[in-house]
Amino acid sequence: MSYLAVDHDRCILCGECTSSCPFNALILEDKLEILDTCRLCKICIEICPTDALFIKQDSSKKTDISSFRDVLVFAEQRDGKLSGVVFELIAKGRELATKLNQKLYVVLIGSKTEELVEKLSDYPVDGIYIYDHKELSYYRAEPYTAVLEDLISDIRPSIFLIGATQVGRSLAPKIATRQRTGLTADCTFIDVKPNGDLVQIRPAFGGNVMAQIVTPNHRPQLATVRPKVMEQAKPSLDHPTKISYRDIKPQMLQSGIRFVSIEPKLKEVSITEADILVAVGRGLKKAEDLNLIEELAQSLGAMVAVTRPLVELGWAPQTRQVGLSGRTVRPKLFIACGISGAIQHVAGMSSSDFIIAINKDKTAPIFDTCHFGLVGDMYEILPLLIKELREVKTLVAESRWPNA
Ligand SMILES: Cc1cc2nc3c(=O)[nH]c(=O)nc-3n(C[C@H](O)[C@H](O)[C@H](O)COP(=O)(O)OP(=O)(O)OC[C@H]3O[C@@H](n4cnc5c(N)ncnc54)[C@H](O)[C@@H]3O)c2cc1C
Repeated sequence: MSYLAVDHDRCILCGECTSSCPFNALILEDKLEILDTCRLCKICIEICPTDALFIKQDSSKKTDISSFRDVLVFAEQRDGKLSGVVFELIAKGRELATKLNQKLYVVLIGSKTEELVEKLSDYPVDGIYIYDHKELSYYRAEPYTAVLEDLISDIRPSIFLIGATQVGRSLAPKIATRQRTGLTADCTFIDVKPNGDLVQIRPAFGGNVMAQIVTPNHRPQLATVRPKVMEQAKPSLDHPTKISYRDIKPQMLQSGIRFVSIEPKLKEVSITEADILVAVGRGLKKAEDLNLIEELAQSLGAMVAVTRPLVELGWAPQTRQVGLSGRTVRPKLFIACGISGAIQHVAGMSSSDFIIAINKDKTAPIFDTCHFGLVGDMYEILPLLIKELREVKTLVAESRWPNA
C-alpha cells in the first residue's frame, strides 16, 4: 500500500503544504504531521520547496480484510423517489448476505426521508442507515462521498453495491479512491465465494468476454450494478429492520457545488418511432444546409436522421444517428440524401418499408438497398421536391387534389 511520508530532516516547516492540501490532511505543530484524510493527491509533493514529502510503498501496511463484514446497498433517491435499481440491489445483497451468513444494510441519503425509510423497511434488510439533511436533498459529489466515508469507516462493510446510474457512476469511483480499494463498474452478474470474495462479472472487450473480477486484498469490495439486469426484491414484512439516523457533522456538507435548480430535460421523440425519416449524409456541404433537410422533413411531417460522419462533425446529436453504432430504424418511408450506403449505415435502415435514395454517384451502394433511386445533386433535387410538396399540400387544402 502507498502512503504519504515526510523526511523531517528536509522539512523546514514553511507551511506551504498545509495551506495547499485540499483535504486538510497536513498539520504543522512541532513537526509536520500527516493525517488519515490524506488522499495521495500529491499536490503537497509538487509544492514542497525542499522535496521533503514523498510517496512510500509499504507492503506490511495491508488492509485487515477480516475486520470487514456484511453487505451494504446504496439506496439512491431522486426527488424523493427511490431508484428502481435499489430493489434489485436489495435482492442481490440479501442473497449474498445469506450465503455469507452476514447482515444486509441499506444507506439512504436525502432530506425528509421518513416515507422512503418506511418503504425500505418493508424489504428484507437488517438495518437502514439514514443521513437526513436539507443539504443532502440532491446529489452533490462531496457531501455524499463524505457521509458514505463516515459510514464505511464506522460499520466497515465487506461488500458495497451501488446502482450503475448517473449518480452511482459518479459516486462509486470517489468512494473507491478514498477507501483505496478496487471498483468494478457496470456489473451484470454478481456472486460470492465462501471466503467472502465478491465475484464481479461484466462484459469486456466489446462484449466478447465476460470478465470475472475479484478484489482479494482490499475492502470494501465495491461494485456498481447495471440497472434492470437483476430481479427486484419482494417486500418481506416479517423481517425486522433496525433504523439508525446518523449524525451529520458540518464539515461533511462542505461542497464547491451549489445547487441552483433542476430543469427537466425535454423528452425528444426518438427517430426509432418516426413514420417518415429524411436522412442525410456527407453529401451535405455545411451544417447550415441542414435547414434544407429540415424543410423537406417538415413538409412531410418527418424527422431528420443522419449518418455517423455528421455526428462526428458535431452537426447533429448522436440520438439522430442511424446505423450499427447508432439507432436501428424501421419507418414507413426513409429518404436517404447524399448517403453512400456503407454497410454500417444500411444495417440500421434496410428494414424500412420504402426507401428513396438521392445520390449524384450512380454507382453508390445505397442504390442496391433503395426501392426508388434518384441520380442527381440533392441541392438541385430537394428544393424542387419541397416546392412540389407545397403545391400538393395547397391543392389538398383547397380540395383540388384528386381524391383529396
Ligand atoms: C465500427 C463502425 C461503426 C459505424 N457505425 C455507423 C453508423 O452507425 N452509422 C453510419 O452512418 N455510419 C457508421 N459508420 C461509418 C460508415 O462506415 C460510413 O463511413 C458512413 O456511413 C458514411 O457516411 P455517408 O454516407 O454520410 O458519407 P460518404 O460515405 O462520404 O458518402 C457521401 C455520399 O454523398 C454523395 N454526395 C456528395 N455530394 C452529393 C450531392 N450534392 N448530392 C447527392 N449526393 C451527394 C456521394 O456520392 C457519396 O455517395 C461506422 C463505421 C465503423 C467502422
